[in-house]
Amino acid sequence: MILMLAGEFRMIVKILKFLPFPIILALIPLFLPEGRTGAYYQTLLILTVSYATAALGLTVLLGYSGQISLAQAAFFGIGAYVFSVLAVTYNVPYWLSLLAALAVTSAFGFILGAISLRLASHYLALVTIGFQIITQVVLNNWRGFSGGADGISNIPRPTLLGLGISTDLGFYWFSLIVFCGAAYIVYRLRQSRLGWALLALREDEIAAASNGISVFWTKVLAFAVSAALGGLGGVLYASGSLYISPDVFNFYQSVSFFAMALVGGRESIVGTSLGAALITFLPEVLRFLHAYTIAIYGFLIVVVVLFLPDGLYGLLLRGTAALSRKFLTVARPQPARPAPLPTTSAPTARPCATTEPLLEIKSLSKHFGGIKAVQNLDLTICKGDVAVLIGPNGSGKTTVLNVLSGIYNTTSGSIMYRGQEIGNTPPNRVNRLGICRTFQNIRLFPELTALENVAVGYYSKGTVGLIGTLLSRPLGYREEAAARVKAREVLQFLGFDRLDIKAKNLPYGQQRIVEIARAIVSSPELLLLDEPAAGMNHEETAALSQILYRIHALGLTMLLIEHDMSFVASVATRAYVMDFGQKISEGSVAHVLQDPAVVKAYLGDDIAYA
Ligand code: ADP
Ligand code: MG
Repeated sequence: MILMLAGEFRMIVKILKFLPFPIILALIPLFLPEGRTGAYYQTLLILTVSYATAALGLTVLLGYSGQISLAQAAFFGIGAYVFSVLAVTYNVPYWLSLLAALAVTSAFGFILGAISLRLASHYLALVTIGFQIITQVVLNNWRGFSGGADGISNIPRPTLLGLGISTDLGFYWFSLIVFCGAAYIVYRLRQSRLGWALLALREDEIAAASNGISVFWTKVLAFAVSAALGGLGGVLYASGSLYISPDVFNFYQSVSFFAMALVGGRESIVGTSLGAALITFLPEVLRFLHAYTIAIYGFLIVVVVLFLPDGLYGLLLRGTAALSRKFLTVARPQPARPAPLPTTSAPTARPCATTEPLLEIKSLSKHFGGIKAVQNLDLTICKGDVAVLIGPNGSGKTTVLNVLSGIYNTTSGSIMYRGQEIGNTPPNRVNRLGICRTFQNIRLFPELTALENVAVGYYSKGTVGLIGTLLSRPLGYREEAAARVKAREVLQFLGFDRLDIKAKNLPYGQQRIVEIARAIVSSPELLLLDEPAAGMNHEETAALSQILYRIHALGLTMLLIEHDMSFVASVATRAYVMDFGQKISEGSVAHVLQDPAVVKAYLGDDIAYA
């Protein structure tokens, strides 16, 4: 409860920090000159807000989920048209027309998202361009709906609490309020469990799926929210300009939206809004260069992509940070280092904990074309086991883990988990069944902090969806707070204290620890670790074995792939040895290490029989 209130308070303070922006924006028109010039700039301001609202869609899609779209103008257009046709042709009330526009655009977003699922980024970009062009052609030629090239005029403005908002100034303030609402939604989304899922998807799809995130639903969510924001911008545009025609919603406009998000700072709400203002006003200021505006956009995009990955807003932040470092140097308290882990001694080659099977693999095969990576493998892991899978490089160990965790389908054979067949189950569902894993080549989310990485691991424990996130602060907050608290606890349990460092900036050994924390934060029943000690120095390996004892003491069953025999010997209850995709030995570690077949696999014929 206290945590929740504290969180509420922090959130309000955070939002209040941004309050000067809308206030300044709201006041700008009061300083515009009288007459035509003033009216012209007022129109441009309305235009900017509608563009910025649509560009926020790209903050979600491009910034958060990392999907490229050059179709934002299509959603902008569909929103504008659905709204205008309903409000003008069918006299549907303003708010109802607006809701319909949002519903239709998000439905289109949903479809595009579902299609995008199978496409890598550049193909996806092509599909969105196709969608953009088709939309414009339809708007131009489906005269019965859109009125064709003549467009639609007499588009209404809203009434709010019985008050008509017909003046430009009134409508500008109205759109600012709508924009702030949209910005809040986008901000709120970023803080939430769904926001973490979007970011995880952007950073690493396979790792996201292995942490319980449904790639399909998350992508579709990103596209639908982004499209709805595009549609909302379109409604503001239509209602602001009182007239629409198809030529506004063209590919060129989509490129402008893309440029707004990219130039401003794709992941930042303020950045995207700055980008929208810049790109709307720039052509006006540089009117004499009109023919070259598209070239200027192109140039801006190239400069930003090459030199400013976080856009202008990122540059601004770095600038202010550098200034405050220069003038306001405050000695930072050093965080206290956690106490070293107590050492737990482990008996060597422990007996199996139980005889109750948790995982039973029967005649499992996995072939990649002609390569028989795994061939007729039988393997049983009992509850409480620390089973190790050993074998030379390329013997198929990682493939076993990939098939188990749903990343690959099986070629044949069965995998029973708690008596249930789980072969060919998608990774996010395997995760939800209580099987979590780490990867041989660490797959953290590089741009997320250590704490956020681990919080993503808690995704499967949450239930609050989009509506809950946006409408029910307490409900959404309780889950986010739980994920953070749990993530912190687990990291501390593993003796890790650099919670707020981005994963990409952590040394290798610590990245491994964070990945293990991410895998155990949701309290799985079975933990799969692929060469956790690979690349670690002697000290780190020793610390790692302590960590493994601690995790095992929590009651987790483990399947561990390992190279380092001395490391394995002290942890394992049971060992399996693979060579060329087949199991060549099993039993206690001491037993398999003496097995001639194993010695031969590792050292070759000559030495084995010397
Ligand atoms: P290990 O983890 O024991 O070193 P792997 O399971 O990574 O071995 O690889 C086993 C064999 O399967 C290797 O010959 C490897 O080249 C092949 N292999 C693994 N993954 C793929 C894939 N996605 N496509 C084709 N071949 C693969
Ligand atoms: Mg491997």
